[in-house]
Amino acid sequence: MKKTEKAAMLLQSFPEIPKADLLECQRLAPHFMLYRSDLSSARCGACGKTLTDYDYDDFLFVLEHKKDIVCPECGRKVTAVCDKYRYSVEVERYAQNFVIFQAGENGVCYAHCVRIQVNLHKELGEPAQEVARYEETQRYAFADGQCYRFGRDRVNQLIPIYPGSDSFYARTGLSEWKYRTRMTEPTWDQPGMGYFQDKTYTILDDAEPLKGTCLQYAEIDKLDQIPMFEYIKFYMKHPNIEYIIKLGYTDMVRHWFAGYCAGVPGWIDWKQNDVRRMLGMDSYELRETKAREITPEDWHMIRENMPGFTVNECLKYAHLIRSCWGTLEGCAGKQTEDQRRLLKYLHRQNRGTHRQMYLSDYSDYIRECRELHYDLNDPVIRFPRDLAAAHERTAEALRAIQAERAAIAEAKRLKQRLRDAKKLDKELRKLKLLRDRLCFRYEDLLIRAPESAVEIVQEGAALHHCVGGYAERHAKGALHIMFIRKADKPDVPYYTMEISTEGKIVQVRGLRNCNPTAAVKALIAAYTEYLAGIFGKQQKARKTA
Ligand SMILES: [Zn+2]
Repeated sequence: MKKTEKAAMLLQSFPEIPKADLLECQRLAPHFMLYRSDLSSARCGACGKTLTDYDYDDFLFVLEHKKDIVCPECGRKVTAVCDKYRYSVEVERYAQNFVIFQAGENGVCYAHCVRIQVNLHKELGEPAQEVARYEETQRYAFADGQCYRFGRDRVNQLIPIYPGSDSFYARTGLSEWKYRTRMTEPTWDQPGMGYFQDKTYTILDDAEPLKGTCLQYAEIDKLDQIPMFEYIKFYMKHPNIEYIIKLGYTDMVRHWFAGYCAGVPGWIDWKQNDVRRMLGMDSYELRETKAREITPEDWHMIRENMPGFTVNECLKYAHLIRSCWGTLEGCAGKQTEDQRRLLKYLHRQNRGTHRQMYLSDYSDYIRECRELHYDLNDPVIRFPRDLAAAHERTAEALRAIQAERAAIAEAKRLKQRLRDAKKLDKELRKLKLLRDRLCFRYEDLLIRAPESAVEIVQEGAALHHCVGGYAERHAKGALHIMFIRKADKPDVPYYTMEISTEGKIVQVRGLRNCNPTAAVKALIAAYTEYLAGIFGKQQKARKTA
């Protein structure tokens, strides 16, 4: 039978979710404690109990809107919500994903992926209530060593459903179930919703529903915090992974599927039905590695990376290396004899002391010796009598050198900052001198420099023009702002002038950008001549310099 035909058959016979399981998911999902604003009563969504001020007086007075609280009736942590607000059922408040396994006939195992939403609802004048909705987002079936995944498309807009007499409301507007050829982890929400998708899920009742199905021995209840469907996909192909878990290597298997490491290693012989042959280990190795807490994966690496060593040597030295494989070669070279000498030395170092020196410590010591230009050909340096003490000394010596380097760098930075400050000071003084020279008097008018950037901004505000925006460039010397004043009122804004760094008058603006009066025009004419005197000389001076 083709896989698609089998998929269609399985879909035909796919059971509905048992109501009791749905209710159990709802019970496990996060809940609210809805309380009256007058603190007369509260209702816990987790246990369904109404708490009155008669029984739980003290409790009601500590309730705070949107704060978590432990229900004194059922002990669950719930979120307190004051029911004076109006709530809409369309807004998702809490959600949790669940997987419900179900046994079918002939060892078939079905799985429902259910997303439970816990929302709040309140109509005007009615007490608020919790409303649970669910959506079955994916279905899986496992049969005859094959995995089948089914999904649905959303065909309509979401139709809001308001509470009635039943406890559950299903999401509507979804198409019929369709077989998906790619076997992946479940999707929990319609794509493109634009918010964070919670991909974690809780498996309901772990192993119980798997009895009699093809997943009965998959040891699912021993594995947690892993993408379970990835694991099941692997299990359907290689059910003998069960033996590895049964041996107690649950952490190792969990690690393979956790998603952040390399996955299932390639060296395991999955064709074998004997766990020793699968792992390439004999009974002695299996027992001894277990006693030393060496995983089969680490043991495989040890044997691969230490080909010249005997099994007993490997067992003896394994803990010194702690999966730093490159380090052994890096410290002792490729020759087995040199490696053995180093490991023997390390082993001796740890004898009779509580302090353990590992290969990584030795590697650090060698690196420090190199940085300090010590002669590593000298056996006293290469294999110090007390490695821990020698390592401490090299680390201290390096720290001292680094501290000195840092101090020198800091002194350099300080000197540079001082030079920069002096340079800036000089430039500002030059600018001040130039601006003093730019002051001018002509008949009843005068031209003066602003006292500060604030004065420029005030000038712009008083005359309703935009000179305020020039304050920063003026301060940096990129242009000069000068004030034109009546001589008897030097502080009253009259006209404002911008002069370029070349000494050209760029603009003269009065109240609301009005044009200069005849008197001001005469002033400007005289001033232009005066500027030519100052800036012309400057340019000449620059040319001759
Ligand atoms: Zn409760």
